[in-house]
Amino acid sequence: MSETLFNIILYSFIFIFGIIIGSFLNVCILRIPLKETIVSKRSHCMSCGHQLAWYDLFPLFSYLFLRGKCRYCKAKISKQYPIVEFINGAMAVLCFAFSGFLADKLANINIYIKVGVDPATNLDIVVKDWFASVYDIEAVILTCILCSVLIVISVIDWRTFEIPLSANIVILVLGLIKLVSYWYQDCRYYKFYCDAVGKNPGFFELLYARGRFLELVIGFFVVSVPLAIIYYASKGKAMGGGDVKLMAVAGLFLGWKLAIVALIVGCLYGSVIHIIRMKVSGEGKQLAMGPYLSAGIVTALWFGNNIVQWYGSFF
Ligand SMILES: [Zn+2]
Repeated sequence: MSETLFNIILYSFIFIFGIIIGSFLNVCILRIPLKETIVSKRSHCMSCGHQLAWYDLFPLFSYLFLRGKCRYCKAKISKQYPIVEFINGAMAVLCFAFSGFLADKLANINIYIKVGVDPATNLDIVVKDWFASVYDIEAVILTCILCSVLIVISVIDWRTFEIPLSANIVILVLGLIKLVSYWYQDCRYYKFYCDAVGKNPGFFELLYARGRFLELVIGFFVVSVPLAIIYYASKGKAMGGGDVKLMAVAGLFLGWKLAIVALIVGCLYGSVIHIIRMKVSGEGKQLAMGPYLSAGIVTALWFGNNIVQWYGSFF
């Protein structure tokens, strides 16, 4: 099979899987602000209440096929459904693409990992570890889930000016999973290194290993603490408590460097777009930060390391 064909099939699967998750996100967006259960209840038409059949629920394509109208009462279906589904599918595709999931790469997965330099000989210490690819896949999947949660947060915050706590808790769990797997991964490679140079590592040395564990932990506080101070000083007027929590849990996932990138970029998006909206559509001063912070977080996920490198090149 040619590589191009393989890539098309691979990415079509990712897209379809993404829009299926997207239709679940629509259910979350609808039901979380109403404090309804997001599982076990069948979806129904918002207008006539008719329960929807499985073929009405097929993401994106049902909407296109029915031309945006309910099959039973012909009421218009909100454009939010296909848009959310499409965006989630597209973001899943981009998450995989930016992490380099292509046929030729998959065929030559690098399972030789440099774990350090031998101080005695000054030579690189390299271990063969096929498990490295599992870490990579895990990282992409976690990133995809984070993007999906950010879509839910953005739409709900846009409409209700509130970020649901449950969504922030999901991101916290994602961050903790990343923290534990980074630690486990770094610990393993550090042990390989210690075996090679004949060292006996202590617990804190193993915890520190390549420093990524600490980077994530600092990420939790680096942006959220200054924001929390602003929140309390302004008695919640300058920003919402949900924004502070979002930047804390997203910071844990991103690590401190990318958390700072996410905040700066998010505020840039927010101020530019909101000023335009105030001018054009006479939008009020009340600003839902969630969508802009989410866009900042996604930018940091996809381009953050490039931005950090570019910034570092000035020094
Ligand atoms: Zn209907």
